[in-house]
Amino acid sequence: MTEDEKKGKGGSGRIKDESFKLWQGLPRSRDPEARRLKRPMSWQDALSELMAGNRRFIGSKNESTVERTPERRMEVADEQTPFAVILSCADSRVSPEIVFDQWIGDLFVVRIAGNIVNPPHYGILGSIEYGVAALGANLVMVLGHSRCGAVTAAVQSVETGMEFPGSIASIIDTITPAVKNARKMPGDLLLNSVRENVRLSVEKIETASPVLTPLIESGTVKVIGGKYDLITGEVTLYTDTDPPRE
Ligand SMILES: [Zn+2]
Repeated sequence: MTEDEKKGKGGSGRIKDESFKLWQGLPRSRDPEARRLKRPMSWQDALSELMAGNRRFIGSKNESTVERTPERRMEVADEQTPFAVILSCADSRVSPEIVFDQWIGDLFVVRIAGNIVNPPHYGILGSIEYGVAALGANLVMVLGHSRCGAVTAAVQSVETGMEFPGSIASIIDTITPAVKNARKMPGDLLLNSVRENVRLSVEKIETASPVLTPLIESGTVKVIGGKYDLITGEVTLYTDTDPPRE
């Protein structure tokens, strides 16, 4: 076999054969022919899969494609290759695997009240870096949500000076700049604060990580913000990431 053939550049039939070598030794679920392949996945395909999963979740019929079986669990036990990283609120009603109709091994989920990116030593940014750089996910979604208690608390802190006990205060402090920005915007203060808080988290992920920034600048990795609606179950994307106007 020539060097080109080894690299998959050989004649007809070779490319497919060589590409399959990449999957040798991996669980059957990653066999492309098994139609259960979810990775490696471009950020565009990952986003499509997330939004399709959300549509399955909010559907009136049971449209889930999740296989909640011991076999599926064992397939991903050897190695994880999640196709997206989700930074979401810890709110019990915003479970990413459920609202995106995914299952174990599909999403690398980082959760913290208010979906914030706090100082590096707390590990939020490091967890996201791990999901991308070590596990191969090309999409990072920051998922805020309606009626967020953490953002509501930050609004109360800014509006009334309310203080919060213990380490909760550090979460509120991290969200406070978003609320202050949102106060300059027309419309609903809480909804604008949720959006602005997501935007600031996206901005920190894009700019604060020497691991992620080159991958983002090359277009390989995308960080995107979204909001989950507790009532409708729908995830909508924030496509306008411009900072608020003064
Ligand atoms: Zn929340």
